[in-house]
Amino acid sequence: MFCVKCGSLMYPEGGKLVCRREECGSVRDLTGDDDVFARVVTVSKQKPPEPLVLEEIAETMPRSRIECPKCANFEAMWYMRQTRAADEPETRIYRCVKCSHTWREY
Ligand SMILES: [Zn+2]
Ligand SMILES: [Zn+2]
Repeated sequence: MFCVKCGSLMYPEGGKLVCRREECGSVRDLTGDDDVFARVVTVSKQKPPEPLVLEEIAETMPRSRIECPKCANFEAMWYMRQTRAADEPETRIYRCVKCSHTWREY
């Protein structure tokens, strides 16, 4: 489910897979093999592609015992965010369950 032109993750849109990279914009039809993946992504479909908007997926996010840099609470939700550049490692985004402070780990 990656763009054949630029390698970016593609998102289902109107029954097709669309590359969100502006300079690419590649589109291809969904195939049967894409169905499972498409359902997973559709959950956060309404979410704008901003890295730190976590409201819609907060309920299912895993939690970790890590200290919040803001309120020193020891529990935060987290998820892995894929960076646009393929040669960069994934970034883990944390969100404090107490004060909702959000930060990233490099
Ligand atoms: Zn592309
Ligand atoms: Zn906090």
